[in-house]
Amino acid sequence: QIKQIAIYGKGGIGKSTTTSNISAALAEAGYKVMQFGCDPKADSTNTLRGGEYIPTVLDLLHANARVNAYEAIFEGFGGIYCVEAGGPQPGVGCAGRGIISAVQLLKQQDVFEALDLDVVIYDVLGDVVCGGFAVPVREGIAEHVFTVSSSDFMAIYAANNLFKGIQTYSNKGGALLGGVIANSINTDFHRDIIDDFVARTHTQVVEYVPRSLSVTQAELQGKTTIEAAPKSEQADVYRRLAKRIVEHTESKTPTPLDQQELRDWSASWADRLIAVERQSQLLAS
Ligand code: ADP
Ligand code: SF4
Ligand code: MG
Repeated sequence: QIKQIAIYGKGGIGKSTTTSNISAALAEAGYKVMQFGCDPKADSTNTLRGGEYIPTVLDLLHANARVNAYEAIFEGFGGIYCVEAGGPQPGVGCAGRGIISAVQLLKQQDVFEALDLDVVIYDVLGDVVCGGFAVPVREGIAEHVFTVSSSDFMAIYAANNLFKGIQTYSNKGGALLGGVIANSINTDFHRDIIDDFVARTHTQVVEYVPRSLSVTQAELQGKTTIEAAPKSEQADVYRRLAKRIVEHTESKTPTPLDQQELRDWSASWADRLIAVERQSQLLAS
């Protein structure tokens, strides 16, 4: 049984970084892994391949009438199979349809079985404001969805939109939510904000990942933290996260906040943070 997981989140929040470290940690633990980038930027697998870009499935499909799926699969760190779906030419076509075409190409040629994969991880852009990026959820391509979010409002807003998408398709065979990967969590406030949001939406935090210089350094070398700093604390955080994700079985339908609830929720946090700031100014004076 191949485990298929989709990782969503706002652009720039750390999806590809986190996904690549999960893949690397799983490969290190002996799993056969494919990382499937579903972002038109096609940079999901860079840090698994020394910073190098690979040709995308859609590029190959545009150039040739018949494509051998294996032409789109490149070996990365620890034997990870790297694939980038790619995107349509800017202004032309639908990115969501592109994801379907890319996944179909590999499935039609029975690639997942032939490679004897244990895990496929889809790294998906977006906050599901359109049906296109909901494809891995809607089509049941993935069984479990995780979202990367920091405690910033825009990241939480995107996570909440994803929850709305999951809820919409939940009784039509869509993927359900495994939980939130809390990224860039360095203070108690970051943690409290995320904890409160997952409680309100009836989901859970899978792991708290700190913002760390080791990630920046690794990225500059075109590597994951698992590869560049295997003995670091950050690498152990990613290993713990990877284990939780690969062993995860019970996903759920989240309960997203509606617009007014989300606004009230963020306003209540603004008040709390202002009160805390006053308190610390008083203590300092
Ligand atoms: P996304 O795929 O969501 O667009 P990326 O994974 O490309 O985002 O990350 C965006 C930037 O944030 C990258 O430069 C990455 O190195 C950095 N980053 C992500 N997570 C962390 C972290 N935990 N610590 C330090 N830098 C991080
Ligand atoms: Fe783009 Fe989404 Fe519209 Fe497809 S459905 S063209 S991905 S906005
Ligand atoms: Mg990315």
